[in-house]
Amino acid sequence: MGAPRASPANIPSVDRLLNSAALESLLARYGRTRVVTDLRACLDSLRQAALAGTLDAVSLSDEAIGSHLRAKLEAGTAPALRAVFNLTGTVLHTNLGRAVLPEEAVSAVLQSMRAPVNLEYDLATGRRGERDTLVEKLLCELTGAEAATVVNNNAAAVLLMLSAVASRRDVIVSRGELIEIGGSFRIPDIMRQAGTKLVEVGTTNRTHLSDYAAAIGPRTGLLMKVHTSNYAVSGFTHSVSVSELAELGRARSVPVAADLGSGSLVDMTRWNLPKEPTVQETVTQGADLVSFSGDKLLGGPQAGLLVGRAELIAKIRKHPLKRALRVGKLTLAALEPVLALYRHPESLPERLTTLNLLTRPSSEIQAQAVRLRPVVQAAIGHAYAVTDAPVVSQIGSGALPIDTLPSHGLAIRVIKGKRGSLDRLEGLLRGLPRPVIGRVSDKTLWLDMRCLSSADEAAFVDQWGKLAS
Ligand SMILES: *Cc1c(COP(=O)(O)O)cnc(C)c1O
Repeated sequence: MGAPRASPANIPSVDRLLNSAALESLLARYGRTRVVTDLRACLDSLRQAALAGTLDAVSLSDEAIGSHLRAKLEAGTAPALRAVFNLTGTVLHTNLGRAVLPEEAVSAVLQSMRAPVNLEYDLATGRRGERDTLVEKLLCELTGAEAATVVNNNAAAVLLMLSAVASRRDVIVSRGELIEIGGSFRIPDIMRQAGTKLVEVGTTNRTHLSDYAAAIGPRTGLLMKVHTSNYAVSGFTHSVSVSELAELGRARSVPVAADLGSGSLVDMTRWNLPKEPTVQETVTQGADLVSFSGDKLLGGPQAGLLVGRAELIAKIRKHPLKRALRVGKLTLAALEPVLALYRHPESLPERLTTLNLLTRPSSEIQAQAVRLRPVVQAAIGHAYAVTDAPVVSQIGSGALPIDTLPSHGLAIRVIKGKRGSLDRLEGLLRGLPRPVIGRVSDKTLWLDMRCLSSADEAAFVDQWGKLAS
């Protein structure tokens, strides 16, 4: 015989428990409403267990019920959106929220939440203002464009641009640029949604200026170039540059748009990063409209930025979709200080978080991996071997898919004959107060240290003690 079993009749009443000392601190912390709801649920599950004859009598003490209830209340209190450690090696990881924002942006967002702001109020005249103007001057200064507008993300920017400029008209795009971006953004679908007719020209690997020229007709509303950010065609290839397309567009009076995807505001090669087209050069080459994301290489909040000719931007602003796709004050609050950092490009690697992570010297990352290896090894126990090893990071978010960045990390493998499991270990790391997200390949859990900033290192070290292995 085991411990004495409890019967359903032994389950204490809600009222008595609410007055017991065991629940006093829970009532103070979580309030009566939540405590009663969760307590009822606890007692129901105890009743089920008692009916099944599987409940020990000791589980019905006030203290046992109190601690069961405490666990339930605590679990229900953790926010759904939480900070994690991104050790995947992908710096701009879409599933992990893409760009991490610089401190200037963080404090601007806090301020904009705490007090009313002049979101659509012109402080110079006291009249109603336009929210775009908060960042338009900066965007024009940085890109050389005449005008600018901001929407929710780049997919929205492309949809809006097509709807406002080319609805019910033909849009000519190269077959080599009919891309799909992760998360169901496909150029042909967006075209249809915007009410435009897609006219494909050229072939997958080669498209010539004459292909575009031959396709232009009375129904043509736009020539569009899409940056093939997440794949590359190599070998026997040809594509038409923005300048060539712009010249053709001018000659035939058809506007030219470029969706740059990531789009950078500075030439990344000055920091030995791979070449990505900049917004400025695309404007200089004659594109009438250029769209790009706020939270890819730009390093800001999620947003879609559209810059270009004043007359076209004015038309875009007047379109009803603009109202539906507009950004909120938090986005604009975060965007302005990020853009302002670009006025001083020399300091970007120190001040713009994304660029700081992308330009971290691999020697520094290696030193960090070497320093942290014993901490991780001690925490996860003897079923696993932790070594430090060179790895390659990726920029991510479709940017520069082929080029990779030399980095360093920890490689965790199960020791042969020991009862370890990478699946289980990954689960434990996800269960930490600040979940640690790595990447599994070749029966190895890789933790790339590139995105573990020195400011976060102490917090990272601290929580290994909490690993419930
Ligand atoms: C990423 C990307 C998009 C979508 O941008 P979001 O900001 O994610 O909406 C559109 N076009 C291209 C070329 C892209 O790379």
